[in-house]
Amino acid sequence: MAWIESKFIWDNWKFIPWEQSQIHTVNHALHYGTSVFEWIRFYQTPKWPKIFRLKDHIKRLFFSASVLDMEIPYSVEDIVDVCIQLVKKNWLENWYIRPIVFYWYWKMGLDPIWADLDFVISAWPWWKYLSSDPIKVWVSKFRRLHPQTAVMEAKLWWYYITSALSHRDASKRGFDEALLLDTEWFVAEWPGENIFFIQWNNIITPAGWTILPGITRDSIMKFVQDDLKYNVIQTDIALEDISNFDEAFFSWTAAEITPIWSITDLDWNKVDYVSKKSLEIWKYYMDIVNGKNPKYENWLY
Ligand code: PMP
Repeated sequence: MAWIESKFIWDNWKFIPWEQSQIHTVNHALHYGTSVFEWIRFYQTPKWPKIFRLKDHIKRLFFSASVLDMEIPYSVEDIVDVCIQLVKKNWLENWYIRPIVFYWYWKMGLDPIWADLDFVISAWPWWKYLSSDPIKVWVSKFRRLHPQTAVMEAKLWWYYITSALSHRDASKRGFDEALLLDTEWFVAEWPGENIFFIQWNNIITPAGWTILPGITRDSIMKFVQDDLKYNVIQTDIALEDISNFDEAFFSWTAAEITPIWSITDLDWNKVDYVSKKSLEIWKYYMDIVNGKNPKYENWLY
C-alpha cells in the first residue's frame, strides 16, 4: 500500500475501489478553484474508531457549499452516515477523512452554475502533520484575506494558495510554520490553524472577523473555560502585544494542539516553563478525542 491510500472512496452514493477514482482534466474546480472541503479526524477509542465532531464538520461543509450556491443532493445526516460507513469499510482506526464537493463538467465559464457537482469522500492513514514538540514560526509577509475578498468563515479551496505560499516562504527560511496577520496587521491564524496565547489564567485568541472559526478552536474554548477554569478572551491581537504572553499554541483538526517555541525573533525558549500549560491543554484534548472523557462523548460519532 502506498503511503497515502486506502481501500474505498465514496463517490456520489457509490463506494468505489481507491484506484478507480478518476476525473477529467477539463473541470471547473481544477481551472477556477470552485471546490469546498473538510478535514476530519477519527481516533481509536475504547468503543471502536470514533469520528470527532463529525456533524459539525459536515455542517460547515454544507455552509461552505452554500457560499458557492452548490445544491448538494444529500442531507447532513446522509453524509454523517456515509463517513461512518467509510471508516468501517476501510478498516481504518485512527486517521483522516476528506470530503470534497466541487463543480465539475459541462461548464467552463467563470460562473459555475449548471456545472455538474461532484461529491467525493476519502479516508486514509496519514502522518501527524506537526509534532507536539514546540515549533518555530515565521511571521509571513502574506496576509489572511480581507473578509470583503471572500467569505472567510467558509472553507473554499482557493484560499489555500495563501497557505501554500506562506508555508513555502517560512520553510525556505528554516522555520516550521508561518503566522498570518490580517490586512489590519492583527494576528489572524496560521495557514491552516487557529492560534491561542496564554497569559496567567487567560487564554487569548483572535476575535474572528477574518479567521476560519475552527472546530478544534471551539472545542478548546469550551473545555478550558468549563473544566480548566481559564478565562477565554477573543480580541484583536497586535503583533507587538505577543511578547507579553507566556505561551502560544496552534489548534486544528489534523495536528490537534501544537505548542509554539518562537515567533520570528520572539523566543519563549528563554522561559523555563515553555509550553507547560499548552501541553496540559493538549493532553486534555487528546483524552476527549480518544473517548476517555465521558462528558464529551456526544462529540464522538
Ligand atoms: N484555519 C484554517 C484556514 C483551516 O484550514 C483550518 C483547518 N481546517 C483551521 C483554521 C482549523 O479548523 P479546525 O479546527 O476546524 O480543523
